[in-house]
Amino acid sequence: MTQTLFNIRDRLALVTGSSRGLGNALARGLAHQGARVILHGRNLALVQEEARAIAQETGATVEAVSFDVTDAQATQQALEALIAQCGVPDILVNNAGLQRRAPFNEFTPSDWDALVATNLSSLFYVSQVITRAMGERGSGKVVNIGSVQSKLARETIAPYSATKGGVAMLTQGMAADLARFNIQVNCISPGYFKTEMNSALWQDPAFNQWVEKRTPAQRWGHFDELVGTLVYLCSDASSFVSGQNIFVDGGMTSVV
Ligand code: NDP
Repeated sequence: MTQTLFNIRDRLALVTGSSRGLGNALARGLAHQGARVILHGRNLALVQEEARAIAQETGATVEAVSFDVTDAQATQQALEALIAQCGVPDILVNNAGLQRRAPFNEFTPSDWDALVATNLSSLFYVSQVITRAMGERGSGKVVNIGSVQSKLARETIAPYSATKGGVAMLTQGMAADLARFNIQVNCISPGYFKTEMNSALWQDPAFNQWVEKRTPAQRWGHFDELVGTLVYLCSDASSFVSGQNIFVDGGMTSVV
């Protein structure tokens, strides 16, 4: 039992928004553990290129799929075709996301809509198709990617924080509804990691200083530091863990 506790070898994992950034690192981490991985983004050529690179690096089977997660119909069609081709994923990581920043009074309705569609509605669209299929099979693991910003407010990101607060609560609600199908649903909430999404921030020395001061670990996170928590939540080791939100943030949300 203990030897296989964290084993995810040959499990099929779909990671949304894995063309770059944290999603790419998470998919790579799962592939290194022997999972079969499905990479995703909007640009199929880019996703295929990344899939080839990860397959070569890890020896894992890596597929590529592309669709816009904000388009409910396109999402459903792409996922149904994917299931027909590759089978029902054992693992779904809802990672695709977007950040837009502006003072609250200057936030545009179109930016609000884009945030809600990409960071929140997409989880509903993607998860519903996948968890229906997981439910028919009788098992599955869903991991939603939240943010420290669901717990900590900051100037200029109220709408982003609101979507991530929604992700946290959607996680709990999905966990409640899907438990009877033996599907565990959890959330990983990262602290600050340097990606394309926040490049304007980590190129700003003052913001760097703020992160280092505000984080008890006194630094930004390394991509690999998210992988262990994900593997745990995707493995049999977490079979009685559901509806939880794990902050991987160097201690940021545990202090004022
Ligand atoms: P990136 O901008 O580097 O990557 C975002 C990914 O999401 C890309 O693969 C992109 O694919 C995909 N994506 C965005 N919009 C869509 C869409 N409409 N349809 C399909 N795919 C889409 O961001 P990060 O890696 O930084 O963020 C990943 C997740 O982690 C997000 O949910 C974010 O909120 C969360 N997070 C990030 C933190 C950080 O410090 N970086 C901290 C806390 C949470 P493509 O553009 O190729 O289509």
